[in-house]
Order: sequence, then structure tokens, then C-alpha cells
Amino acid sequence: MLQYDICPDIIFQRSALSETPVDMLVIAAHPDDAELSCGGVVAQMTAEGRRVAIVECTQGEMASRGNVELRRQEAVYAARILNLCERWNLHIPDGNIADSAMNVAKIVAALRYFRPNILLFPPEFDRHPDHESLHRLVRKAYFHSGLTKLEIIVFGKALEPYRPKRLFCYMQTYEFEPDFYVDVSAHFDTKLQAYFAHASQVYVPGAVQSRDEPQTFISSPEFLEFIKARARHFGGKIGVEYAEGLYSVEPLGFATLSALLR
Ligand SMILES: [Zn+2]
Repeated sequence: MLQYDICPDIIFQRSALSETPVDMLVIAAHPDDAELSCGGVVAQMTAEGRRVAIVECTQGEMASRGNVELRRQEAVYAARILNLCERWNLHIPDGNIADSAMNVAKIVAALRYFRPNILLFPPEFDRHPDHESLHRLVRKAYFHSGLTKLEIIVFGKALEPYRPKRLFCYMQTYEFEPDFYVDVSAHFDTKLQAYFAHASQVYVPGAVQSRDEPQTFISSPEFLEFIKARARHFGGKIGVEYAEGLYSVEPLGFATLSALLR
């Protein structure tokens, strides 16, 4: 029996009472990744009364802009905008999401604690190496989370083995052919508000940017246009205004085509 004692940093909790299991868990490398890549899907789910949590691995301390404390405040602000149940930070070093037994145990802790039906995580290929590393780490943790001989203790309690039912990858910088698109038109404004919550990292229209900090790939107005244009493009593909595309690790099936009659 392998045993790990994990004590995650809860940076946001909607109520003192833990609301687990959740319907959907988003695992991300950095504090702004979930909002930038799948904020529309998250906003839609919580607007429908679904319980959603975000777990980020690093505090983003290697970013060229902002600092750990500011990024934590921004993540809490975004959690309120998205109406999350809970948000964790796993304190894995930024720039080094290593394939270690402890890091696998930290992800397993999140899977067993939140017990999500749907798990969203980074794609296999992306511009930032942390995103690719986290894809592999989550795939490994997903398998290990179902093993009875791996004991994970979270907040002093041993958690039961669990594997999410659906494994979907969200889109970050590099584009892939999504397996399906989700109409997020009605929630795209909320996504943008959550995006703008990360003001130390991204361009916010009308806001004064610090001249002391370097411009980055995502701090330009062009990156915001890129995010909006992609969502509009994907929306056009399915005849709506804005959409986000997801990749399913396993084949998707329908019990009946009646599921498509809504
Ligand atoms: Zn990232």
C-alpha cells in the first residue's frame, strides 16, 4: 500500500460546507489557463446550477508579469465571477510540472476529493511545456486514481478510489480538431469578465497597463482578439455566435439519438 498525505491550498470556497462531488473539474497548469481556454463552458455549467471546481497546479511565479499574491487575488476574483464551488492551488513549481509520484498523488487527491463526472484538462500538444507535462500527469493520475492500493489522505481523511466518466481536453494556444463544440454564446461575456480578472497577465480594454512590466504573448490586445475570433469561428461552424471546442480522450457515444432532440 502506497500512502500520501496531501493538504491542498484552498484559495476559494463558495461556502464553508464542502460541496462535493462536483459535476465538472477543470485542472490547469497556471492560474489563468482555465478562464482563457474554457471559461465559456465553465460559465455555462455554473449558470445551469452545476457544481464546478478549478484546480491549478502552479502559482504562476515564473510569469513575466504580476506576482504570486496578485495572481492569487485575481484567481479568487475570477472564481467569484464564474461562481465556482471551490478553487485549489497545488503549489507545484511553475515551469517544472514534473512527472513525480508526489505530483501524481496531488492530482489524484483532487480527483478523489471532487469526484467529477467531467474532467477538463490541457491538450497533449501546446506552446507551453507545462501544459503538455500536465496532460501526461493527469492521464497518469486518472489511472492511478482508480487503484485501491494507492491511499490518498486529504485533510486527514482517506479518500475512496475514483475515475471521472469523461476526459475532455480544452484548447490553449495550439489548435486541434475538436471532437465537438459547445455553444457558449450566452456566457461569452462572463468568460471575458473572468479573463479580464487576470488583469496582471492580459490586456483589459480601457485599463492602464504598467509600463514597468514586459509585454508577453497574452498581454497584447491581439491575443484578446485571437481568443474572441476563435470562439466566433467555432461558433460559426455550428451556427451560433460563440463556441468552445473540446477533444475527448475516449470515443463519445450516445445511449440514444433522442439526446440530440433538445
Ligand atoms: Zn498556462
